[in-house]
Parts: sequence; C-alpha cells; structure tokens
Amino acid sequence: MTEAAFHRGVTLAEIALGLVTFVGLLFFEAPYGRYQKKGYGPGIPQRVAWIAMEIPAVVVWLGIYFAGEHALSSAPLALMGLFQLHYLQRTFVFPFRIRPFGKTTPLAVVLSAIGFNVLNAYVNARWVSEFGDYPSAWLTDARFLGGAVLFGLGFFGNIAADTTLIRLRSDGSSGTYAVPTGGLYRYISCPNYACEMLEWTGWAIATWSLAGSAFAIYTAANLVPRALSHHRFYRAKFPDYPPERKALIPFVL
Ligand code: NDP
Repeated sequence: MTEAAFHRGVTLAEIALGLVTFVGLLFFEAPYGRYQKKGYGPGIPQRVAWIAMEIPAVVVWLGIYFAGEHALSSAPLALMGLFQLHYLQRTFVFPFRIRPFGKTTPLAVVLSAIGFNVLNAYVNARWVSEFGDYPSAWLTDARFLGGAVLFGLGFFGNIAADTTLIRLRSDGSSGTYAVPTGGLYRYISCPNYACEMLEWTGWAIATWSLAGSAFAIYTAANLVPRALSHHRFYRAKFPDYPPERKALIPFVL
C-alpha cells in the first residue's frame, strides 16, 4: 500500500470516528467542565490538562508538517500559519485565561484528546505539506481566500465568546455558572462552539480537501451535542433563561 492510500484510509477513519463520537455524545456528555464525573482516572489540573491535550496539535503537527516535501512553499506555509494561529492560542494562551478554581479534567479525557490531536496532525499536516497540491497561485484562489476569511471570523468570534464566559468569573464567583449575555449570546447559548465550527469549516474550504473536511466534521460531531447539552443545562438551572435563545444556530437550533 502506498502512503497516500494509507493517508486516505486514516482520513476516512477520522470521519468514521466523528460519526461514532456524534452518536455517543448525544447520550453521554464528555466528562469535563460542568459534566465532570468520577471514574475516568485521576484528575489533572485544568490548565495542565488543556496544555497537554492541545500541545500535539502544535509540536506533532509541526514535526509532520516540516517533514513534507512542500513544507517551505508559500501556500502550504500560509495554511500552516492558519492552523497554528488557532492552536498556539488554544495551547499557550487560553489555559492561562480560564478560571478553573481547582477543577480538574479526568485523565481519560486528556488521553483521548491527545490521541485525537496526533491522528488529526497526521491527517492534516501530512496533507498540507506532502499530498496536497498547493501552488503559490492557491493564495489568490477564491477557495483559499473565502476559507481564510471564515477561519478568521471564527477565530476572533471564538475568542470573544470564550472571553465573555471567562469574565463571568472575574468577581471571584468560584467555579459557579452564570447566564452569559451580549454579542452572539443574545441569540445562542454556545457562540464559542459555533465560531469554532466556523473556523474549521473555513479550514476545510481553504484546504479544499478531504483531510480538512474530516477535521471540520469531527469538530461538529464533538461540539453540536455538547452545545445541546449546555443549552439544556442553562434552561434547567436558570428558570428565567431567555426563551428565544437557541443552542448553536441563531433562530434555528
Ligand atoms: P465551555 O463553554 O464549556 O467552557 C469554557 C470556559 O468557560 C471554562 O473555563 C468553563 O468553566 C467556563 N464557563 C463556561 N460557561 C460558563 C458560565 N455560564 N459561567 C461561568 N463560567 C463558564 O467550553 P469547553 O471547555 O468545552 O471548550 C473550551 C474551548 O475549547 C472552546 O473555545 C471550544 O470551542 C474549544 N473546544 C474545541 C473542540 C474541538 O473539537 N475543536 C472540542 C472542545 C472544546 P468550567 O470548565 O468550570 O465549566
């Protein structure tokens, strides 16, 4: 089997994993954050957990990327820049902004996120710098430009939405939950997830690839059920929760 055929098989496996994850998460919330439960291994302090979970998306990703034949070409470099913009923020900035108040993340969640990020690094980094075909002209192609714009909107929207949540605990309310307001929270309960999904949809368009689509599908598979769970959580916990607010897509879902 050629490596290209193997890579395609792994990419299809990522999509299959997304479908299984989606169905599973409709019945069972991933046990971190507000759904944290005992029984999934020792607890890792939340900041350490976030860094450990996401660092393969920087280190392993870049290692695989720079082993590729086209790693130093302009269009692959631009795509690498987009991906790393997100993951440098998620790995080295976001964990120091949240207010965990001593909360932990179970080891099983950390290990499964590490495993996924290694898989996804092979699927996406190997595609961008080795198997994909991105001449310099790709940088002015409407698919790259449109995808990069969506990615940028999602990136800044995700940070803005996470910032709103982080500020809800700025008064020292130790680890409790409040109703977020303002911005996209006027319309939906989870704009951080909606914007994250927009980012990776933009990535799928900018790379115009099965690899990029696999990650966009997996992200949606992970975050759509979690957004529905968060929405139910808010409605159950806050009797005056704005009734017109949807979970993830304004006016729709
Ligand atoms: P959450 O929205 O569950 O939580 C984000 C942070 O805000 C946590 O520190 C949480 O605390 C706190 N928080 C959430 N809601 C409230 C509230 N109502 N009042 C006070 N504090 C609140 O997001 P996740 O932790 O699931 O995800 C964090 C980021 O990672 C998001 O940007 C998400 O898009 C991204 N992500 C991406 C995934 C992907 O597949 N690409 C998968 C998972 C996450 P606590 O932890 O105590 O609940």
